[in-house]
Amino acid sequence: MKVIKFILLLTFALISRAHAASCAEQPVVKQIRSEINFDVRNEKLCQTLTTLKTVRMKASRFKSKMNRGLLAKGYWPYLRTQGLKAIEISNSPSCKGIYGFVDQARKPWTISLCPLFFDKSVSVPDRMQLILHEARHFSGHPHVECTRGTWKGVKGGCDEAITNEGSYAVSAESMARLGMRARNLSAAARANAKLLALSYAQNRFNQPVFTSGARAVYLASDEQEKGFFFDGKNFYPAPYVEDAYVVSRTSAVDVFPKYRSEPAYVLNLYSSTHAVDEKAPKGTLPAEYNRLSPSERPEVIDIVTTGEFLCFVQPHQLDCSTSGKKKASIWLEKSIERVFTPEDLKVKPARHTLYIVDREGKMILVRLKTNGESSVSEVLNPIGGIKGIAQLKATRFGLRKDGILMMEKSGRWAPVPNAEGARFDSLSRPFIWSPQLISGE
Ligand SMILES: [Zn+2]
Repeated sequence: MKVIKFILLLTFALISRAHAASCAEQPVVKQIRSEINFDVRNEKLCQTLTTLKTVRMKASRFKSKMNRGLLAKGYWPYLRTQGLKAIEISNSPSCKGIYGFVDQARKPWTISLCPLFFDKSVSVPDRMQLILHEARHFSGHPHVECTRGTWKGVKGGCDEAITNEGSYAVSAESMARLGMRARNLSAAARANAKLLALSYAQNRFNQPVFTSGARAVYLASDEQEKGFFFDGKNFYPAPYVEDAYVVSRTSAVDVFPKYRSEPAYVLNLYSSTHAVDEKAPKGTLPAEYNRLSPSERPEVIDIVTTGEFLCFVQPHQLDCSTSGKKKASIWLEKSIERVFTPEDLKVKPARHTLYIVDREGKMILVRLKTNGESSVSEVLNPIGGIKGIAQLKATRFGLRKDGILMMEKSGRWAPVPNAEGARFDSLSRPFIWSPQLISGE
């Protein structure tokens, strides 16, 4: 009876959003405190440690380049083996821009957590990962400068390779395991862990973990009433999104409705049921969209970035801003079909330029300046009947106006062979995704 009560309590603590009792009151916390010294009054830290201590994994193994067996014995046994004795909350000047750090001269082994660790934008799986990552530094594994990817040029932002089994190898593996195998975590938390695993694998190693990338696009077919994830090779079933725009950026795929009275939401990339969670997580663009009254809501067709600019594409308007400050607005009489980046078009990437194609196929070059000025000029459209472009596995794919998916082969466009003549109505921009993480649901 006592055991059942204990399990119920734990399950409640793990899945419930509204905690009736504080974390410190859970029986398991006493046990954690006997092993690791930390301030139990810190609710977020207490919950992170409780989850690390109590997470249960399915016995099945999964094969992945992200799984190097560093956490094969479990998350808590790993922390014990690394020698973690204390976690403290730091306000030191070295906290600037980082989540936490380890001082190797200091014993017993202590992780110092910075204010950023507790920021509301950091998810529970990410906090778990951060502690596991820091504990790896007890056995050294200093970082190196990133030579590629999102953090290129950032000193100490990367590890050389996942095979070095440093802290970022722990980050990627811990999240992949959690996403694939955790029994007592919500589906949303597991989906988040999978995205984190891929984003660490993609961006934190100078030798890429996935040589041909772990990216996909979303394709919708109104005729078939089906949605697909396409990774450049195969088509995988995905939720069918109707009367809405699928707007993807590197690691987020948002859905904005065509009718402003409807809510926007975040597309769940890793749900086997493809259930749509209409409650957009706090801090996401859909959540901000939903906070506006229907008359204030913009019609978001797409979101594009160029240099420092983030641009919202609306049917007749392109609104660009740099970190929310300098704004440039371009208005078009003819409605916008698609906005392309220099990379999409394989033209020399001039800074802060975009190419608008209108419904008649006219191409307009937009030059943005960081002082908020902008200029437009009509240019020759080099892609004619292609209405969407995405690069996957080093190949360019294009959606032809008639809905046929094309691929580029030695400079020429040809239909994708295994699309079996299917016609698609929309092609998103690429986002982080891998079929490696869809089994085991
Ligand atoms: Zn580190």
